[in-house]
Amino acid sequence: MKRRCGNLSRKWFKTIQALILVMFVVVMVGCSSTPTSTNTKDTKVKVGENKDKSNSKIEGDLKIHYIDVGQGDSILLQYEDKNMLIDAGTNASTNTLISYLKKVGVKKIDYLVATHPHEDHIGGMDGVIDNFQIGTMYMPKKTANTVTFKDVVQAMKKKGIKAKAPVAGEKFALGAVQCMILAPNSKDYDNVNNYSIVIKATYGKNSFLFTGDAESLVEKEILAKGFDVRADVLKLGHHGSRTSSSTVYLNKVNPKYAVVSLGKGNDYGHPHKETMNKLKSMGVKLYRTDEGGNIIATSDGKDIKFNVSPGSYTPGRK
Ligand SMILES: [Zn+2]
Repeated sequence: MKRRCGNLSRKWFKTIQALILVMFVVVMVGCSSTPTSTNTKDTKVKVGENKDKSNSKIEGDLKIHYIDVGQGDSILLQYEDKNMLIDAGTNASTNTLISYLKKVGVKKIDYLVATHPHEDHIGGMDGVIDNFQIGTMYMPKKTANTVTFKDVVQAMKKKGIKAKAPVAGEKFALGAVQCMILAPNSKDYDNVNNYSIVIKATYGKNSFLFTGDAESLVEKEILAKGFDVRADVLKLGHHGSRTSSSTVYLNKVNPKYAVVSLGKGNDYGHPHKETMNKLKSMGVKLYRTDEGGNIIATSDGKDIKFNVSPGSYTPGRK
C-alpha cells in the first residue's frame, strides 16, 4: 500500500512537472511572438481599437448622384462632408449642374476628375471651378484645341489649380470610401475617349465603377493589368455605346446594376442595341438619366438602393 502510494505520488509529481514544462513553453512561445512581454498587452489593445475604428468607419451612407446633364456625364460621390465630382456635363448644362451641387450641400469638391477633354464631360468644369473650393484635380495628359478646354485651363489658372495626371494603380480615399485609378494604362491613344480616367470606388462591401468614355481597348488593357474590376454598379462607358462594354469586360465586372448617362433622343443613337442586349441577357438592372432624370444610388456599405425604378433596355434611335 505504502509502495503504491509512493508510486502514485511519483506519478503525480511527474504529471505536475510535465504541466509546468508545458506552461513554460506556452509562455515562452507567447513572448517570442510579440516584441517584448510588456508590449503584449499594448499590442492587443491597439489591435482591438483599430478594429473598432475600421468597423465604425463604415457608418452612414455613400451617395452617388448620376446627375442628369443631358448627353454628357457628371457624377457626384458624397460621403459625410467629402465630395468627389467625376466630370461636369456640357456647356449647356453648367447652370443646372451648379444649382444641383449647391442644393445637395456641396461647398468643397475634394476630388475633381475630368475624365477626358470632350465637351460633354468638361463643358461645365470652368463653372464648377469658379463656384466651389477645389481640392485635388485629376486630368489625363491630353489637351484639346477647343474653346471649352481653354475655358477650363483659364479657370484653373485663376484659382491656381494644377491638375494631377492619373497613374493606374494609384489609390486615394474619400473618407471611408477607397478609390483606385484603373486607367489610362498607355501614353498615347488614337481615340480621345480612351484617355478616360477610370476609377473604382469601394465602400464596405459595395463597389462602383466609373468608366468615362473608355472603349473596349481600354477595357482590355485594364483586364491585362489584372485589376479587380468586379463592381455592383457599372457606369456604362461612352453613354452605352457599342464601342464600350465588351462582353469579356462585362463578365468580369459582373455588375448587378448599370447606370447610363445620356440625353433623350440624342444624335448618336445611345444607348446602342448591342449593349442593351448584353445587359438584358445578363439580367443587369439598368438606370438611365434620359428616363429617370437624376439617378441617386445610396450605399450603407452592404446594400445599394436607388431613388428611381430601373429603366428600359430600349436602344436609342439614330
Ligand atoms: Zn461622352
